[in-house]
Amino acid sequence: MPPDSAIDSARGAIAPGGVLGVLGGGQLGRMTAQAAARLGYRTVIFEPQAACPAAQVAPHIQADYGDEAALERFAARVDAVTLEFENVPVAALDFLADRVPVRPGHTVLATAQDRVVEKRFLNEAGVETAPWAEVTDRASLDAALAEIGLPSVLKTCRMGYDGKGQAMLRADMDADALSAAWESLGGVRCILEGFVDFSCELSVIAARGTDGAVALFPPVMNEHRNHILHRTIAPAPLDAGLIDKAEETARRAVEGLDVTGLLAVEMFATPDGRILANEIAPRPHNSGHWTLDACVTDQFEQLVRAVMGLPLGGTDVLYPAEMTNLIGDEAADWPAILADPNAKLHLYGKSEARPGRKMGHVTRLRR
Ligand code: AMP
Repeated sequence: MPPDSAIDSARGAIAPGGVLGVLGGGQLGRMTAQAAARLGYRTVIFEPQAACPAAQVAPHIQADYGDEAALERFAARVDAVTLEFENVPVAALDFLADRVPVRPGHTVLATAQDRVVEKRFLNEAGVETAPWAEVTDRASLDAALAEIGLPSVLKTCRMGYDGKGQAMLRADMDADALSAAWESLGGVRCILEGFVDFSCELSVIAARGTDGAVALFPPVMNEHRNHILHRTIAPAPLDAGLIDKAEETARRAVEGLDVTGLLAVEMFATPDGRILANEIAPRPHNSGHWTLDACVTDQFEQLVRAVMGLPLGGTDVLYPAEMTNLIGDEAADWPAILADPNAKLHLYGKSEARPGRKMGHVTRLRR
């Protein structure tokens, strides 16, 4: 623990000089540590893998999330803990929460880790989603199909990301093809969602401080390729009615879950003017990377402020912007990107450019 002088107990804030703990050592943890450093905080990363992007910029405890001795050492070195990866076991969070503030906490993480719990929460918070049904075995898939119909999307409840753990169920599939789709996901608990013929995909990143104050970054429009985010256009070029609905959706989610930290809410806009929430992520989000170069406060600084009990920063947009991910060997284009005077390059320090791997991103201001 740092000296008591590092704790501004009058306001419940952890003053600059304190130490932020981050569970997860990917690029989101790296950029969180960089933002923390800009505000005068130190960061310690907890991550099972040895060579991780965040370990290049902050001290790293390399251990499994189930290693209580390592978690104990981590807790002793930090003033507050956040996460950059939502599949951290909740048991690790609970262990840490007995020792140090963990923001966001157990309920937020448990909700985001399970698509059925997530969708139930969203609907109870007054947020519209695609119609959905829980699938626990092959027979309940038939019951869910009778309710939801085809086309629909079958997703594992847990551990899915970037399109992994998903199968599209098309109207022309017979019973054998449907069984094969169910088995391809490993026969685990799933959710069946109605297929949304969306006009575009949006996201809103909401922040909520320890005092309950909420700040929203403006809704952005996201384009995916091979289920991975390709491009974000910020702010989303949509009419005011849809923007209002997207903001209201994010506000209901972040307040309904009592989040301290960030909550990214991914949504679909439908041709008939509705906003349907798809999923939530209680951490910095790829669709918020543009804020590093084009907002008064970026999403990583906002997370640090929320977790350390500081006032949230302003989310005004300095410039409309476009963010493009550099996936796999696209990062090899760095010389051309650097030669573009309107391009801001961010590389994550990953040595191996595997297909589908997020290596960096580039932000261009839309002036
Ligand atoms: P997810 O892992 O839930 O974020 O899904 C990844 C991507 O699959 C989304 O960004 C959409 O492009 C697509 N997708 C997911 N769910 C649906 C759905 N119910 N209807 C249509 N497309 C979907």
